[in-house]
Amino acid sequence: MQLTKLEIKGFKSFGDKVTINFNEGVTAIVGPNGCGKSNVIDAMRWVLGEQSTKALRSEKMENIIFNGTKNRKQAQLAEVSLSFDNTKNILPTAYSQVTVTRKLYRNGDSEYRLNDVQCRLKDITDLFLDTGIGSDSYSIIELKMVDEIITNKEHSRRSLFEEASGISKYKLRKKQTFSKLKDTETDLERVEDLLFEIE
Ligand code: ATP
Repeated sequence: MQLTKLEIKGFKSFGDKVTINFNEGVTAIVGPNGCGKSNVIDAMRWVLGEQSTKALRSEKMENIIFNGTKNRKQAQLAEVSLSFDNTKNILPTAYSQVTVTRKLYRNGDSEYRLNDVQCRLKDITDLFLDTGIGSDSYSIIELKMVDEIITNKEHSRRSLFEEASGISKYKLRKKQTFSKLKDTETDLERVEDLLFEIE
């Protein structure tokens, strides 16, 4: 699977639309301090569903919307799209080209799209689960993550292997099933209480 294109508009320092095409081989982004290199990575994390403002180096989610400059007014919408070539069918979808899009409006409304069709965040996370591409997976490695992996903080090394070996999705499903079971047990207890009261 090949990452083919990143489109950013109204996200952090990118007031105008910027398109980055990824060809085969290595793509390097260079520039002076503060020019927005890390914002490109933040945009990738964000479009893949990142919910943690800390991970996006921002205090509030609204702050990721382009805030304007002396000569430019602030944007009302942040929009990022990330495209993949899926001809090898690594992503579990029939599409050979996959584009995920995330939008956030200043009034707080937000939207996810998969090949331009509105979807849920869950559809995006499920699509990338166990591919190594999710917002918190090993495809995006920051300096602080290298530290965490070396020191094995919070079993980060284990999580890395679990994602690579494809068992994360089963762990997640197990967690979701246990949570449903717990809810069902609570409902059953409630029914028993009601029955006791009626009798
Ligand atoms: P370094 O090499 O120092 O790590 P960098 O090239 O990675 O820098 P970033 O951290 O990506 O730079 O970008 C920082 C810039 O992004 C700052 O100038 C900051 O003002 C700008 N920025 C962040 N959020 C916004 C926003 N919402 N609107 C406008 N500009 C923003």
